[in-house]
Amino acid sequence: MPDQKEIDKLKSEIKDLRELLDISKSLNSNLEYATLLDSLLLTCMGRSMVIKAGLFIKNDIDSREFTLYRNYEGFNPDKNIDYSIDEKSAIISSLLKLESCITMPELLEDIKEISDIKTFTILEPSLIIPIIMKHDLQGIIVLGGRISGTSYSQEEKKFLRSVADLGAIAINNTFLFEVSSTDMMTKLKQRHVLFQNLRDIITTYDEESICLLMLDIDHFKNLNDTYGHSFGDIVIKEIASILLGQLRMEDMAARYGGEEFTVVLRYIQMDVALNIAERIRNTVEKKVFKYENTEVKTTISVGIVSFDPKLDIVPQDIIKRADTALYRAKENGRNQVVQG
Ligand code: GH3
Ligand code: MG
Ligand code: MG
Repeated sequence: MPDQKEIDKLKSEIKDLRELLDISKSLNSNLEYATLLDSLLLTCMGRSMVIKAGLFIKNDIDSREFTLYRNYEGFNPDKNIDYSIDEKSAIISSLLKLESCITMPELLEDIKEISDIKTFTILEPSLIIPIIMKHDLQGIIVLGGRISGTSYSQEEKKFLRSVADLGAIAINNTFLFEVSSTDMMTKLKQRHVLFQNLRDIITTYDEESICLLMLDIDHFKNLNDTYGHSFGDIVIKEIASILLGQLRMEDMAARYGGEEFTVVLRYIQMDVALNIAERIRNTVEKKVFKYENTEVKTTISVGIVSFDPKLDIVPQDIIKRADTALYRAKENGRNQVVQG
């Protein structure tokens, strides 16, 4: 017969397991990267009773460094400091080797190069939690001082590691979703994501104003023929980056085909959408692409329509209307925006 102490311990373990199950459900129901990172950070903060915490994560698929995630809570980062850690840094190998939550003194014991941990010391961490999946470090949670001022028990550290493990699985799922919906060359959404987005708009439409832009690079075949296909690729990537730079979080830019792009602008009236399209067209027109010692310029044509629930029954309907407007922009002499 177990004694009261053992029963209490088992009860507490069961409570922890139940809580982990809820955390797992909540993290895995989320395929939106930013929201997922927020809930992971907030879960760790709530559990360890800290008011400051930061999360270091790779900013994109090709990134070679971990950067302080923008939604840190309570820390006041200095704008002049680059809060990033190279993936080859001693901190990373130390966290991967130890595979556990560690305190700053423990980390200092393992790392000899002080300059390497400057980024961390500024944040005054009470605990550092590695997010690891299959021996690969996916991120680092840094918790600030605890409200209680107490140190972490072994159980608490174990629990936080389990939360981070669940976070790693969720991050990985979100990452796979991101990869399967992103065009790797341009970092824009893939065509199928545009169709899904339009289907969602059609089924949930609630009188809001939505505009669709269809953009195509002018005389792109000539550019390819004159400067080569790989230079053409560079131009496509640069124009995609102009698009991303000009849009808000809620807008969606997709690569529709080779050198054709679409943009869905939500909650925006046609006059504003026309201004945005014109601004994009103008930025591309001014952009100078370098081919060896030659300065190369190009232009785009844009067709723009606003969503009409009477006309747009399936995604192809609105795409066709935007495409017709684009065709007219081409016919009228290119390098212009035409409203359909
Ligand atoms: P227009 O002004 O009428 O649009 O003329 P255009 O020459 O741009 O004609 P079109 O849009 O039909 O041409 C598309 C060309 O883009 C054909 C294809 O070889 C090229 N292309 C498609 N995808 C890629 C790509 O990923 N990289 C490169 N370099 N070229 C591509
Ligand atoms: Mg073209
Ligand atoms: Mg084309």
